[in-house]
Amino acid sequence: MKTEREMNQVVEKEASLLWNAMHRYNPEAEQVVAVKGEGSWFTDESGKRYLDGVSGLWCLNLGHGREEIADAAAEQMKNLSYFPLTMNHQPAIKLAAKISELLGGKYQTFFSNSGSEANETAFKIARQYHNQTGNPQKYKVISRYRGYHGSTLGALSATAQANRRVKYDPGVPGFLHVYPPYSYRSIFDGSPEESDLKAAQLLEEMINWEGEETVAAFIMEPFISGGGVIVPSMKYIQRVAEICKKYNVLLIMDEVVSGYGRTGKMFGFKHAAGVQPDIVTMAKGLTSGYLPLGATAVKSEIYDVFRETGKDSHFRHVSTYGGHPAACAVALKNIEIIERENIVERVRTLAESKLADLHQLMDHKNVGEVRQIGFLLGIEMVEDKQSKLPLADAKLAEVIGLCKEKGLIIGKNGDTVPGQNNVIIVAPPLTSTEEDLEFLIDTLESAIRSL
Ligand code: PMP
Repeated sequence: MKTEREMNQVVEKEASLLWNAMHRYNPEAEQVVAVKGEGSWFTDESGKRYLDGVSGLWCLNLGHGREEIADAAAEQMKNLSYFPLTMNHQPAIKLAAKISELLGGKYQTFFSNSGSEANETAFKIARQYHNQTGNPQKYKVISRYRGYHGSTLGALSATAQANRRVKYDPGVPGFLHVYPPYSYRSIFDGSPEESDLKAAQLLEEMINWEGEETVAAFIMEPFISGGGVIVPSMKYIQRVAEICKKYNVLLIMDEVVSGYGRTGKMFGFKHAAGVQPDIVTMAKGLTSGYLPLGATAVKSEIYDVFRETGKDSHFRHVSTYGGHPAACAVALKNIEIIERENIVERVRTLAESKLADLHQLMDHKNVGEVRQIGFLLGIEMVEDKQSKLPLADAKLAEVIGLCKEKGLIIGKNGDTVPGQNNVIIVAPPLTSTEEDLEFLIDTLESAIRSL
């Protein structure tokens, strides 16, 4: 048996063999090696504790250490370790029914393993749907600049952030990008709502110029997350839904980040009254990150087209691990806890009574805008309020480094200018205690005010 110290030495030596996804905080800084999680906190191998202010990658909605969830996975693994969804198993059947109930309306769900795959699946469904309903030329997919939809080639082609794509372009043909509802830096005059509605108008213009007979789908996050937490006017979401309907363009709502309570509603689109997307994609909060799972929920009218007999209506798509029984069991337990503990309501209340304190930072010279919806918050950092030039990377790294030193992990993204991520991200677990949130707010505020 190795002592703990010896184990840590082994970890240190072997860490160089792990291809870590992003050296995003500071390439020179020592990377944290986490060994234990409790609620919103994790401990590294030196015993230092950190509050995870970004819920891992915005997925750890219920925080660490829920034994009930671990038990649900273990029970399922003992009972039926694996089963493909070329046939059926009970956890997937129950989960699909629950998702349909939560979305409101009748939806059929296709399971995968991640958000990227959930979106890839949605694009293929959209293309095949039009193919089989007499519109074989409808193949184009429109998304917004600044939107993030995943890292696999199709999903990356819908992701319109130059910095993430430049080394891998050209993307997949047929993916187009339109101007986002980003009132802080909009080219349009008027109130935020007016400028957002003009951005919606550009979608309609684009569909017309491209030819409505060629456009299959429009994909959007209700609140752009990886592109700098952009919170549009709800009228924008309602307007784009109307436009999609008018031109028979399927509306794909990417709820990978916003689903399962993060924004103070079970799904982000529910903030926009009357909007019912054709397809909803989800991952992350679906299992609170305890196991990988992606889901593509499709309105029954669309699904029915894939059931037509006498035609080759079969959806040629399969995933070995998609809808793994243990992942579905975990998702069911996760949703049960979210409902039992009124997590969505809790987010709404604490977002206003606590997290909203971060809006006080608006008086700081380097804070351009604080944008918030529930437990999803972006602080756009600028050199000064007049020029709105994105804050230099080194200064932002200072803020993030200070927080980390004090035991708070926060993120940054935005790609406001290609390669420049000047938006600080705050997205703590939805179960964070009031004390956790106070620590987060105080630590972040003092780090920003030290600039
Ligand atoms: N859509 C959105 C909105 C996301 O934020 C992400 C991941 N950050 C994805 C899709 C892709 O999810 P995954 O990393 O699970 O493939």
